[in-house]
Amino acid sequence: MLSRAFVLKVAELPAFKNWIKHSRMTQGLVKRFIAGEDVETAIRIARELNQQGFKVALDFLGEDTHQESDAEMASRQYMNLLEHIYKSGVDSCISIKLTQLGLDISESLCKQNLERVLKTAQDLGNFVWIDMESSKHTEATLRLFGELFPQYPNSGTVLQSYLYRTPEDLEFLIRLGARVRLVKGAYAEPPEVAYPSKKQVDAQFDLLMRKLLLEGKEPAIATHDTKLITKAKQYAQEFALAKDRLEFQLLYGISRELQKQLVSEGYRTLIYVPYGEQWYPYFSRRLAERPANLYFILRSLFRK
Ligand SMILES: Cc1cc2nc3c(=O)[nH]c(=O)nc-3n(C[C@H](O)[C@H](O)[C@H](O)COP(=O)(O)OP(=O)(O)OC[C@H]3O[C@@H](n4cnc5c(N)ncnc54)[C@H](O)[C@@H]3O)c2cc1C
Repeated sequence: MLSRAFVLKVAELPAFKNWIKHSRMTQGLVKRFIAGEDVETAIRIARELNQQGFKVALDFLGEDTHQESDAEMASRQYMNLLEHIYKSGVDSCISIKLTQLGLDISESLCKQNLERVLKTAQDLGNFVWIDMESSKHTEATLRLFGELFPQYPNSGTVLQSYLYRTPEDLEFLIRLGARVRLVKGAYAEPPEVAYPSKKQVDAQFDLLMRKLLLEGKEPAIATHDTKLITKAKQYAQEFALAKDRLEFQLLYGISRELQKQLVSEGYRTLIYVPYGEQWYPYFSRRLAERPANLYFILRSLFRK
């Protein structure tokens, strides 16, 4: 079985990257995960998902920004997206990454950019999820979130069950009164900071999920893992949590039957929809989550 770290390394090889980006054979898989490259397409897809009963979070793809001007531009793109959502009337919030807004350049620059986006969202009655990136950014992401949340309660953030530190972070966010999206975690992390085995990651997810459902504000359970989703439903029943008081969140293009099933059962279900030209890092994390995705595209290469 290929490890996540191995697949992410392969994905960094220039020849592989070039092939994925430019070959017609790989475009089917790219399209499965990425909604498109422009805001109009993203809004159209959000509308279609709304019509099927889903809520949506739009992610304008981008991360690891190293130029101040690019970070500022990204925040403007998000403000523009919020305007588009408002004018089109689609039911969609947004989801952003702090390294896209300049976290690796300086925390104060990132804070300025983030605050602009949060303010625009607040003025337009919208909500902002702050995605969680690699463990190198966890501390700063939670610090900035904690500083801005009291002024912008229209925001929430993400915790990853693979990190050893997450139980404490969950306590912190519950005390703060913030919404939390619980995920397993998508980055290649060393064993010094994260559980190396899936069994341990899933066990910690279960424990954190139980606490979040019991004590958290409008908890968001973000997984395609049917065992954990079944457990979430059982906990919600045990805690008399109505179906619209928790939110299941799933990624665009993944486990589509499960997505439909949740909606048909009356659960509040949100689809995370990424779009934009900078799709490659997001796409490579989706490959790494499921080696079958990599086999699928490699097979198409050898069939050529
Ligand atoms: C809405 C949402 C937001 C997220 N935000 C973040 C974030 O901010 N930070 C972060 O680190 N991670 C984030 N993630 C990703 C998350 O950490 C996991 O990497 C991802 O969800 C896969 O794990 P899983 O919980 O689905 O469980 P797994 O045990 O990995 O998968 C369960 C089943 O889901 C299906 N599946 C899962 N992934 C794929 C795939 N790539 N292709 C095809 N089928 C697949 C398979 O059938 C698999 O058996 C987010 C996930 C979701 C759903």
